[in-house]
Amino acid sequence: MSELHTFLFDGLPVRGMIVRLDGAWQEILARRAANTQTGAYAPPVAELLGEMTAAATLMQANIKFKGSLILQIFGDGPVKVAVAEAQPDLSLRATASVVGEVSATAGLADLVNVGNKGRCAITLDPKERLPGQQPYQGVVPLFGDRGERLGKLSDVLQHYMLQSEQLDTTLVLAADEQVAAGLLIQRLPLAGEANLAGSATARDEDEIGRNEDYNRISTLASSLTRAELLSLDIETILRRLFWEERLLRFAPRDGMLGPRFACTCSRDRVASMIRSLGREEADDILAEQGRIEVGCDFCGQQYRFDAVDTAQIFAGPPGQVPGSSIVQ
Ligand SMILES: [Zn+2]
Repeated sequence: MSELHTFLFDGLPVRGMIVRLDGAWQEILARRAANTQTGAYAPPVAELLGEMTAAATLMQANIKFKGSLILQIFGDGPVKVAVAEAQPDLSLRATASVVGEVSATAGLADLVNVGNKGRCAITLDPKERLPGQQPYQGVVPLFGDRGERLGKLSDVLQHYMLQSEQLDTTLVLAADEQVAAGLLIQRLPLAGEANLAGSATARDEDEIGRNEDYNRISTLASSLTRAELLSLDIETILRRLFWEERLLRFAPRDGMLGPRFACTCSRDRVASMIRSLGREEADDILAEQGRIEVGCDFCGQQYRFDAVDTAQIFAGPPGQVPGSSIVQ
């Protein structure tokens, strides 16, 4: 069962969140494995994508935001793009495009940062965009302050969260072919517990690294090993790490309210994409292939448009999609 638990450290300016994805993560891997063109992910790619999926879930749950949180890595190694998306209801999807061989021992830098040109982008895309409104995007390099290449995704994201939110954050991430999991510990803004949405102030910046309670809890969190995070259940992990702390627990999010796989692709969206290609381009593809076929990288769904469908896309009013009565 995939689940997300949120907790506060009683009386201390620190909050935490832990996620464990099994069914949701296994479904993402199974759909990829069923794709006859790509086949399954090599284990190091699955590990990276699983960590990204766990991190995207934690980051989405950690903010008050109505829209998609999209975590992307644009790589300069065999992994060209890796994407993990989390919605406010914790539905998730993820995919990666891989070119060439991946060594069995490849780490983050070998996968996406061979020439130090890899970068990580975090996008917040509002569900209902106002006219002219652009999604918010933050981009971080995959190297640290002294130019050293970062070996772990958690280091990259901690760096990003410290810079963007001015709040100390500790992340522990792990994934294999069964489980993707993560633990997030964050110092609360000085405004206190009344302000969980977390609008940090200049004073928060002064506090970075200086809160003793946060530092102690962060050290405990960092002692969690990959093997423990992957193999132990959430109750055992929290008890082992924080048995001397007083935790205030919130109701876990699991089952249909918890993290789960869902794809947001649709025939309508593919039709809009074909419309944006333009009539000429679409006709060229039809002439060459007899139909336009688009596969969703996230879920494997194939969408097919023959000459008649395609003519309707360009003939009908915008939003009218052949084979569907839905008007956007
Ligand atoms: Zn899809």
